[in-house]
Amino acid sequence: MRQGKYTKFIPNEYQKSVKNIDFLHLYQAGFRTVFIDIDNTLVSYKQHELTEDLIAFLNQIESIGFKLLLISNNNQERIETFVGKHPFPFIYSAKKPLKRGFKSGLNRLNETDVTKVVHIGDQLMTDIYGGNRMGFYTILVSAIERKSDILPTRINRKLEAFFIKKVKKHQKALYESRLRPYVETL
Ligand SMILES: [Mg+2]
Repeated sequence: MRQGKYTKFIPNEYQKSVKNIDFLHLYQAGFRTVFIDIDNTLVSYKQHELTEDLIAFLNQIESIGFKLLLISNNNQERIETFVGKHPFPFIYSAKKPLKRGFKSGLNRLNETDVTKVVHIGDQLMTDIYGGNRMGFYTILVSAIERKSDILPTRINRKLEAFFIKKVKKHQKALYESRLRPYVETL
């Protein structure tokens, strides 16, 4: 699927929300590590702390057998406040789509096989492009509250719209199955 023009801008899967992802199925398919973006993937930019509901959700992923990492481009203060006293491993200032933060994440979890990693996020330019570059299985979700996007993200959204058009033109079938449902939520 990585062959052809603009395929790095196509997720392996689209789901409206993280809550719609079938983690049991992913585990049965052989995946063992889950990387999850925070801002507008787990919570809006306005929400500063983990909720009981989200803690239960993350615990559930781990209880299936996955190693879990919260990985964000946002800063230390935001991410440390968000994770708080909870024992979830995290990486801030990850600089997605660059590889460095992802590689730190792999080291942190002792994961040596990129084909066993799922990366979930709400941005095509950082989460999906970056995850695809690493060879991860990528899942795009719709932003929780798009109008809460911070400035760098709003710029990325303009780039995202450009690449979605390219995918639509050059990868019609993949666009229809994996990006049209996303575009329809915008
Ligand atoms: Mg995000």
